[in-house]
Amino acid sequence: MTFYLGIDFGTSGARAVVIDDDARILFQMRHPWSSNADWINCWKKGLWSLLEGISGEWRREIGAIAINGTSSTILLTDASGQPVDVPLLYNDARGSMVLKDLSHIAPPNHTVLSATSSLAKLLWMQHLPSFGQARYLLHQADWLAFLLHGKLGISDYHNALKLGYDVEKLQYPEWLKKLQIPINLPQVLAPGTPVGELNPEIAAKFGFRHDCLVCAGTTDSIAAFLASGAKSPGEAVTSLGSTLVLKLLSRTRIEDARYGIYSHRLGDLWLTGGASNTGCAVLKKFFTDDELVSLSREIDVSKASELDYYPLLKEGDRFPINDPHLPPKLEPRPDNPREFLHGLLESMARIEARGYKLLQELGSDQLNHVYTAGGGAANSTWTAIRGRYLNIPVAPSINTEAAYGTALLAMRQLKMSTTHHFPSGK
Ligand code: ADP
Repeated sequence: MTFYLGIDFGTSGARAVVIDDDARILFQMRHPWSSNADWINCWKKGLWSLLEGISGEWRREIGAIAINGTSSTILLTDASGQPVDVPLLYNDARGSMVLKDLSHIAPPNHTVLSATSSLAKLLWMQHLPSFGQARYLLHQADWLAFLLHGKLGISDYHNALKLGYDVEKLQYPEWLKKLQIPINLPQVLAPGTPVGELNPEIAAKFGFRHDCLVCAGTTDSIAAFLASGAKSPGEAVTSLGSTLVLKLLSRTRIEDARYGIYSHRLGDLWLTGGASNTGCAVLKKFFTDDELVSLSREIDVSKASELDYYPLLKEGDRFPINDPHLPPKLEPRPDNPREFLHGLLESMARIEARGYKLLQELGSDQLNHVYTAGGGAANSTWTAIRGRYLNIPVAPSINTEAAYGTALLAMRQLKMSTTHHFPSGK
């Protein structure tokens, strides 16, 4: 009997999920936090409290652990793995100050050319007084895994994408070497690859198996995709959260900076997608959650609404329409709130279908199944409307927890290989 532990470090807390060999959830636990001045200790506390919270009966059977973190949350450490400064979080945009210089070196429209990319943050950090003590750049998930396996300088190709790592050639590109960054960039492994055994002291203290493996991690949004149930080409996940995010599994890699489209590697496949500024934040502006439930029930889904909106909170969208000045279109607004909601749901379904059409026009596999995550996933009226536009099965995600997706990652990789050649690390 082998169990697998996935740990998610998200924006508002950390979560652990333990699954068995059949991917069934045995245990889950959440460790919340609020905005924090001392992230390093906050994350450490979260990690230890989750390990402690798992009952001994499950801990003894856990064969592999993997951790996901928020994308582009990075920190610098000294040669012993001690952070030399505070981490820069996923949404920290101070990297904007180096973008001009970076644009002369990175290829045009590369994903690193964003104020929040890991590489832009790292270049900004080079100007910190503490940079002199730094020896390693690590992502949040890399550092937390280091606390468990003790090897420094290891990452995965999901976290490393926005550091500039070439996920197709599986190497750092030549242009990145020209930056002559004077610290160690991480060695990059396939997500889920076993990195080493759990530190024996930690294993003994918490009662884990001495041969429990700690694996390379992933990012929170990819982990949530893995949890959805999508795994074959043509399967996708639409996230109906504050914004509308589409992710489609494909055998072809698609990149198109005009629409903010890029692809993550997922084994032999590519996870491609884009994000629109339309989404549930617009619904929230006009309706409470209770109103969304009661009014949606009254909508006749067999009849298409005539209302043709482009629901936005403010002007501008990138995907599937690239126009920074695209105006919100919310007129004409009927007096009847049910009709207004019908128009909004219908219009967002059209934008979703247009997004998938664009991905397919750019060369992705043909869409054949859409899983749904986010607050709008529970709305069966909306699901039926979306099904009318997409003309393929639309269903809720099997699971939406990133921790569950990360546990699956650990399970799949471990089942694939029986012998392990661990990377050396430092
Ligand atoms: P976030 O992207 O902020 O994490 P969530 O995935 O938590 O968003 O979803 C929250 C959104 O879901 C809110 O904007 C809310 O309006 C919307 N929502 C909640 N219930 C429903 C519903 N029954 N139908 C459609 N949207 C809903």
